[in-house]
Amino acid sequence: MKTAKEWKEFYSTPEFRTQYTYEGHDLGVSCTQEGTVFRIWSPCAESIDLNFYKDGSLGDAEKSVPMGKAEAGVWTYRTTEELHGTYYDYTIRMEGTVRRTADPYARACGPNGARSMAVNLARTNPEGWEQDKAPERPMENIIYELHVKEFSWDVNGGFPEEYRGKYKAFLCENTTLNGDGIHPTGCAYLKELGITHVQLMPVYDYGSVDETGHPEEFNWGYDPVNYNVPEGSYATDVHRGEVRIREMKEMIQALHRQGFRVIMDVVYNHTYSLDSWFQRTVPWYYYRVHEDGTVSDGSACGNDTANERPMCAGYILDSVLYWAEEYHIDGFRFDLMGLLDVELMNRIRTALDHRYGGGEKLLFGEPWAASESAIEGAAKGALKENLSLLEEGVGIFCDNTRNAIKGSVFDVDKVGFANGASGLEEDILKCMRAWQKTEELDVKSPAQIITYISAHDNHTLWDKIIDTVPDERKWMKVNKMAAAICMTCQGNLFLLSGEEFARTKNGLDNSYNAPISLNCLEWKRVWENQELVEYYKGLITLRMQLPGLCDKTKDAWKRIEDTWTYPGAVGCSIQNTDGDRKVRWSMLYIIYNGRENFLKVSLPEGDWEILADAKSSQKWRHPQEASHNVYVEPISVLVLGKNEEVDRVV
Ligand code: CA
Repeated sequence: MKTAKEWKEFYSTPEFRTQYTYEGHDLGVSCTQEGTVFRIWSPCAESIDLNFYKDGSLGDAEKSVPMGKAEAGVWTYRTTEELHGTYYDYTIRMEGTVRRTADPYARACGPNGARSMAVNLARTNPEGWEQDKAPERPMENIIYELHVKEFSWDVNGGFPEEYRGKYKAFLCENTTLNGDGIHPTGCAYLKELGITHVQLMPVYDYGSVDETGHPEEFNWGYDPVNYNVPEGSYATDVHRGEVRIREMKEMIQALHRQGFRVIMDVVYNHTYSLDSWFQRTVPWYYYRVHEDGTVSDGSACGNDTANERPMCAGYILDSVLYWAEEYHIDGFRFDLMGLLDVELMNRIRTALDHRYGGGEKLLFGEPWAASESAIEGAAKGALKENLSLLEEGVGIFCDNTRNAIKGSVFDVDKVGFANGASGLEEDILKCMRAWQKTEELDVKSPAQIITYISAHDNHTLWDKIIDTVPDERKWMKVNKMAAAICMTCQGNLFLLSGEEFARTKNGLDNSYNAPISLNCLEWKRVWENQELVEYYKGLITLRMQLPGLCDKTKDAWKRIEDTWTYPGAVGCSIQNTDGDRKVRWSMLYIIYNGRENFLKVSLPEGDWEILADAKSSQKWRHPQEASHNVYVEPISVLVLGKNEEVDRVV
C-alpha cells in the first residue's frame, strides 16, 4: 500500500484531476418506485462488491453483487427494484487489501451508522411536509444555540417520558414546569423569550454516543460519522433507518410551525476517526498531510479534511445543499470554519443564494482553527485574517466582541468591560458598530458579524461572572449589563441556551462529554432567575423595534454618532430611522456605565424617553420622559429614544 504522502502526490497530478474528478451530483443511492441506483466514487479500487443485508447491524450479507466501473472513478449498480429499507455496504479491493466500508454518501443507516440503508426519501416525509415553510425573515436574527438532548432531558421540563432527549420533544408545544400548566418550558418558553432561530448542535450522525447504549450517554457530537444522516440517539427507534429521518423532519416542521427558523451546526473540518468511510473508499484523498508525512491536526480532533480538493469540496457543497433541500434547514453554522477553504465557503454561499434567493439561508462559522493545518496549494482558510476574502453573506463569530464584553475565554481571571476591566471603552464602541471600519477586522457589513457573549464552548456567562466578580451582589447586575451591551451592538445576535436564566455548568469550561445531568437545561432555573429572563425578553423585544441596530447594510456604522468615552463608561447616539417606514423613535441614545458609581450625563437636545435601564428593559412599554441630565446607575446600561411625535404633559 502506498504511504499517505505517495497517495497525496498521486492525487495531485493533473492526470488524476482530469480523469477522476466526477462532476455529477448523484453519488450515493437514488431509490424510487422505478428502481434503485448505487453509485460510489473510488477511482483506485480494483473491484467493488455491493453487499445487501436485512438488518442494520446483525447477520451476514444476504447477497453480494459486483459493481460496474463507470466514468471518472465511479462504480455503479442498478436494479428495477425499489430497495427502500434494505441495508448495504461495500467490499473494496485495492492494492492487495480488502476493506469493508459503509457508503460515505449514505442518507440512511442502521444503528451507529455502520451499515448504510437505501431510502426512498419521499416515504420519510411527515404529513404536511410539502407545505412546510420557514417563518418570514425576522427584523433581526436572534440565534439560540441548543442541543437536542439538553433541551428536554430535565424531568421537570414536563415532556412525555418517551420524548425526553429526542427530536420528538420539539413537537410538544405546550409543556410546563412539572406539567403545572403555568410556567412554560421547551418551545412554549422559547416563543415567549422571542428568539427567532434555533441553532441545533450536531444532529448529523456522530460517533461518540452508542445509539444502542444507555439512555444517559451524552456527547455534544462534534465527531461526524455519516454527514448526510440524522443522529440516531435522538430518534425513538434506531433499528429502522427511516425513523430518524422522519423524526428529524417532524422536529423541523414543528419548529417552523412555532415560528422558529432552524440552523444546523455542521462539522466538515474533521471526521470522528481517520478510519472513516472516506478513507476506506479513497485512501488519504480527503485528509491533509504535512510535508513530512504526518497527519494534519488543525482541528485537534486527530485529522483535518482536505476540503480544498475538488471531490471533497464537492462533497461538502452537495451535503449542505442536501440538508437545505431535503430537511428545509434555514442556515448553517460551520465548526472550525478556519479549516475550510475560503473558496469553498464562497461557493456554498453562491449556491444557496442561487437556489433560495439572496441571504435566505444564513451561513456563518468559527473563523479559527485549533492549530495550524496543512492546507494544500494556494488555498486559504476561512480565518479571521482572511475575512476580506469571504463573501458578505459568510459570517463569523466575533470573539473580539465576546472578549471585550466579558473577558477572555482562555484566561479565567481576565475580565471585560462588563465585569470591571478598564481601558476597553474604544473597543466597546467598535463592538457597537460590529467592527466596521476598524483595524482589527475587515468587515463588509454587520451581516458578517455574529455578536455574542456565550456559546457551548468555554464557561457559561454566569460561571464566568462568578469566577471574575468577587462580590455576589453584583453578579446579576453584571449579567444584565453584559446582555444589554450585546443586544445593543450591531450584527446578528447569538446566545447559548440558558444564558438568559443564568445557566451554570458548575464552573466546567468544556462539558462535551460530561454527564447529561450537568449539561441539560434545568427548567426550574427559568423561574428561579425570572428577573434575568424578563430582562433578556425585554431586550429582545426592544431590539426588534430598532432599525438603527438591526441595519445590516455596509453604511450601518454611519448611524452611530457623537460617541464619547470616559473611564469605565461609553455613550453615543444612533440614528434609528428606516427609510420611509414609520419608527417610534427617530434617534437612540445609549450609555454603558461600567463604573461603581452613578454617572451623570447631559443628553443632547430633544425629548428623550427611557426605553431600558438598570431595573427594567421593558420601560419602552410605558416610557417615562428623561430629564436633560440623566443619572446612570452603577454597572448598568441606559437606552433612550427620541420620540418627536408625543406631546407630553410635564
Ligand atoms: Ca450516531
